[in-house]
Amino acid sequence: MKVAVVGLGVAGLSICARLALAGHDVLGFEQFEPMHESGSSHGDTRIMRLTPGEGEVYVRLARRAAATWRAWEGLAGRPLIEWTTGLMAGPRGSPFVAACQRLSRQPAALLRGDAIHPLTRGRLAMPYEWDVFRQEDAGVIAADATRAFLLRQAANWGARLFHRRRLDAPIETPALRIDGETMTFDAVIVAGGAWAGKLLPEFAGRLEVKRRVVGWFETDAPRLLPVICVDNEEGVFGMPAPRGYYKLGLHAVGGATDPDHVREPDARDAALLSQHAALLLPTHRPEPVRMQRCLYTVTPDENFLIAQSANHERVLLFSACSGHGFKYAPVFGELAQEWLNGLPSAELEAFGSHRRGDVNRLGAPKA
Ligand SMILES: Cc1cc2nc3c(=O)[nH]c(=O)nc-3n(C[C@H](O)[C@H](O)[C@H](O)COP(=O)(O)OP(=O)(O)OC[C@H]3O[C@@H](n4cnc5c(N)ncnc54)[C@H](O)[C@@H]3O)c2cc1C
Repeated sequence: MKVAVVGLGVAGLSICARLALAGHDVLGFEQFEPMHESGSSHGDTRIMRLTPGEGEVYVRLARRAAATWRAWEGLAGRPLIEWTTGLMAGPRGSPFVAACQRLSRQPAALLRGDAIHPLTRGRLAMPYEWDVFRQEDAGVIAADATRAFLLRQAANWGARLFHRRRLDAPIETPALRIDGETMTFDAVIVAGGAWAGKLLPEFAGRLEVKRRVVGWFETDAPRLLPVICVDNEEGVFGMPAPRGYYKLGLHAVGGATDPDHVREPDARDAALLSQHAALLLPTHRPEPVRMQRCLYTVTPDENFLIAQSANHERVLLFSACSGHGFKYAPVFGELAQEWLNGLPSAELEAFGSHRRGDVNRLGAPKA
């Protein structure tokens, strides 16, 4: 089949690679240059959790992804995930922390927040009244290295990737308009990230685009620390980053934005991130040495939205949205293949327009 993939973030790249490997004639289109920093997939690192507290469907997805992550590492000739352990934390009684504990295969008890300081030899600190679950199967994904690998691997498997080519919106049929030309495909998969609502306006009402800012913090005594996900109002998340930095972000802070006009990080962002760095990272300087903006595309229930267009059965929206999608990247290509082949899929059912199943019964995603 001749398949177009619109958008070459981590989702589009995974889909291109998998479909090309399966023998399809795959053309991938990206409006920006390779490795650009204007969407949702850029940056040095992302959090990996094999037991996401967001629900059983995500645990199944993460474990399914793990096998392909290992295969990708073999092909890339380098590790793409560093397993650091994770601290899933929140105010006492947090449903997210309880879910992480329940879904995990580890029989570990919850810790009180003040146990974290000695546990990390003074590098991390949390308030006494927080519940903390220490999750073994968590770590850090080398995000940009993964994108670079997928760009190479998709092309090696035969996908044709075109950069600086912006498809015209809206997409209503598998005939795509680009630079005054029309190209017709057997199927079109729209992995347009924050632009998906512009490309497929029928879904725009369910895809809110939000600006997020992450910051890197430095210390004179670098040490590999666990990743953290905090179920508080701001949804703080953190992870080790290259050069001994620790990176912090706020899952729930940042306003709606147009993806084509996003405000650069400023002093207000730095001040907010600094407050959390001062509390959580006692041996790091609280001012960020660097900040970066990123886009969240958020659905009302904070789950992915993977749904066939009502206008045409051969057009699929593939939105790995709401700030927690990177870890499942290897499965995205597999799900796209299941859709293309008309195979029954519990995941496609769970993330479709008319959701059923156990998606996110257990609390909001935490990166
Ligand atoms: C700050 C932040 C922290 C995160 N932390 C984590 C984490 O710790 N763990 C985790 O698992 N996930 C995390 N995520 C989520 C994860 O990064 C995203 O789910 C994932 O990157 C989404 O990838 P995507 O391919 O759907 O979107 P994108 O990477 O945005 O890709 C969409 C692409 O489509 C292109 N495009 C759009 N319109 C057109 C057009 N008309 N023509 C051609 N191309 C077009 C865009 O330019 C873009 O490159 C985080 C996200 C952010 C923003």
